[in-house]
Formats: sequence, structure tokens, C-alpha cells
Amino acid sequence: MKVLVINSGSSSIKYQLLDMSDETVLASGLVERIGEHNGLVRCQLFPDQNGGRQVQLEEKIPDHQSGMRRAVDLLTNGENGVIAEKSDIGAICHRVVHGGEDFQKPITINEQVIEAIEKNIPLAPLHNPANLDGIRVARELFPGTPQIAVFDTAFHQTIPDHAHIYALPYEYYQEHRVRRYGFHGTSHKYVAGECAALLGKPLEECNLITVHLGNGCSITAVENGCSVDTTLGMTPLEGLVMGTRCGDLDPAIHVFLHRQLGYDIEKIDEILNKRSGLKGICGMNDMRDIHAEISKGNERARLALAVQTYRNRKYIAAYMAVLGRVDGLVFTAGIGENDPVVREQSLQGFEMFGIKLDPQLNSRREKSPFLISAADSKVAVWVIPTNEELAIARESIEVLKSTND
Ligand code: AMP
Repeated sequence: MKVLVINSGSSSIKYQLLDMSDETVLASGLVERIGEHNGLVRCQLFPDQNGGRQVQLEEKIPDHQSGMRRAVDLLTNGENGVIAEKSDIGAICHRVVHGGEDFQKPITINEQVIEAIEKNIPLAPLHNPANLDGIRVARELFPGTPQIAVFDTAFHQTIPDHAHIYALPYEYYQEHRVRRYGFHGTSHKYVAGECAALLGKPLEECNLITVHLGNGCSITAVENGCSVDTTLGMTPLEGLVMGTRCGDLDPAIHVFLHRQLGYDIEKIDEILNKRSGLKGICGMNDMRDIHAEISKGNERARLALAVQTYRNRKYIAAYMAVLGRVDGLVFTAGIGENDPVVREQSLQGFEMFGIKLDPQLNSRREKSPFLISAADSKVAVWVIPTNEELAIARESIEVLKSTND
């Protein structure tokens, strides 16, 4: 079956068409700058075959509907197209950021599901409305084709209450559902599954720590295949130091920024989400630039790296205590997959727990999973490329199978 995976944001739509008979990518693309005068639709056809062929359209894209229509046109267009008809697509799979407490797994979209995603808008005011735009447009463009929602939060719904309740007046949870939800769930679940397969054990028997370090960063403690704690919170701002997001802070800093500097809530929100993290400390949020600056002696760049990797260490060690026994530790996403220095610094001092990296293995660069721990390490440490589109497609196929059974 061919499936179209859609990640609809406020001004862009990312999409991937996969043939799930052999899990190959037929096309992968991006509609950008929706609503602006200089819209752009990019599509890489057959990217698995020597990079494939790139098709690009530049024109005004007034809304999500016209953006999605243009993307589908490129997929079905005679000479370049990768499918003959829209009806060749057997399912549309949507990434949805916040499922709140309503969704523990992916689900076929119907009116009730749409209502529940709407109900969760207060928890993800920037993301859920954009995800819903994508769902509504896809339902119009592909009437009768099953549409499945896969939630970033779903994998973390197994986190027990002692790890998801904040120490705030309890009625904020009861009345407004203020609690930890966690994000990057599709990625954590995917690499956990891959790691279990590499360890040769069923996922349900594996205790793992999955370390997702990209522009957004999070670490998850996985016990017997289930998420039992994760660093992102009610929103994707808590925990690790990210590209532009601050991660953990003394909450009284918000009060300080307001009282002492006169910042209003919108400004504080913008500072914490867009002007903090690595960028806040050294002015750069791309780890490659930070390394280049460190090699030139830039002290602030060195500090940004040190602050990020120190926070990683604290959480990895905390989750070792949460789990008691760890079978595998996985690094994934842009930084986790590509940066041996960050990996090495994030596990500095872990020899006391029996975790040892092999410097030579750690310096390898591969597109497929590779082991980086030393032969005598008590815990296997892997680098496993994440693949959220494939994970979403696989989970959607499972939903379709279970509804057809
Ligand atoms: P992601 O959000 O997973 O796409 O990760 C994006 C981030 O990965 C970028 O902002 C970079 O900081 C980082 N990244 C990508 N390639 C490399 C690399 N070769 N070395 C270090 N960091 C990288």
C-alpha cells in the first residue's frame, strides 16, 4: 500500500509518499511560506534512488488547501509523477502534536477525533490548529481514503502520575489538565523499537534511554518498552538545552523578567522559545557552527556546548536511577546522529556506571545504526537514525490492520 505522511505546520506542509510494501520513499517534499507572496513547493522524487530528481514550483500559495493541492499535483503529474492517480494512495497519515490525555495510540480520524484534537488546542495553540488544517484539507482532497492521526504525545501516556504531575495546586491538573505530556514520542518509540531489534530482545523486555538531540531535544526513560519519564513537559520547552529553547529554568525567572525588566508574557514566551538555548548563550543554534567557532577559540560557543552536554548528563544519570537496569542507550536526531563530541561529553564520567564509549566507533559516520560502546561496556550505546515519517506510516498501517481484523 502507498501512504502519504503529512506534517502540517502553520506556514508549511512537509509530506512523504511511501510504498509500504518495501518501505521505500517514492517522494518527499515541502510546501513553504503558505500565505506569503513567494510560496514554494519542493518535491524530491524517488529520493532513495541516488538522490532522485528535484521538482520545484514557485508561486503564491494562499492557504493550506492550495498548497496541498499543488503537492498532490506534483505527485500525479504525467512525466514527473510517481503515481498515476490520487486513488493509488491507500491512507493519509497525519502527524498531530498534542493528543492530551485523549489518545494513547494512533487512531483513524472521524468527527469525534477532530473534536478531541480541537479540545486540546489550549495545550498546543501553535501546533494543533495547523495540524487540523492539514487534516481538513486532506479529507476534502481524498474523500473516502482512510486518514490516521499519529500523536507526538501518545507514546508518553504510560508515564506514571508521580512523573507527570507538577507540584502545583492539584486543581490545575483536574480542571485544566496541566501536567507533563512529553513530545517526540514517535521518534523515541521508533528508535526504542530499532534498538530492541538490534539487542535481539522483544521491546517489552527492554529498558532503554533514548536521547533525541536535534533542534528540539528530549530524553526518554523506556521501561519494558513503555515511556516512564521524559524531559519535555506540558509544552516542548522543559528539560534539555535546545537550539533556541531554554529547557529547565527556575520558574521565578519569569517573574524576574516581568518585574525587573518590565517584559510582558508574550515577550517572555518569545525569549524562552526563540531566543534562548544554545542561541541564547552563544548566538548560534546550529551545532556545526558552534564547533567551527570553538575551534577558533570562541569561549561562549564552548560554554553553550558545555551547558547543553552537562544537562544531558544529568538527565541520562537520573533516568538510569529511574530504570535501575539499562539494556541500551540510543542517540538520535540531527546532533545525536552526527556529533561524536556531543555524544562523548554527554556520557563523560559514566565509566563509574560501567558505560564506556569506544572513541574510534564513536567517530564513525553512518547512515544506518552503529554501536559506539566499548566491548566491555555494561550498557550497549547505539546511534540510530530516527525516521519519523516511516514510524508514522508503520503505526498507521497497524491501525488499518487492526480495524480490518
Ligand atoms: P533535527 O532537528 O533532528 O533536524 O536536527 C537539526 C540540528 O542537527 C541542526 O540544527 C544541527 O545543530 C544539528 N546537526 C545536523 N548535522 C550535524 C552535524 N553534521 N554535526 C553536528 N550537528 C549537526
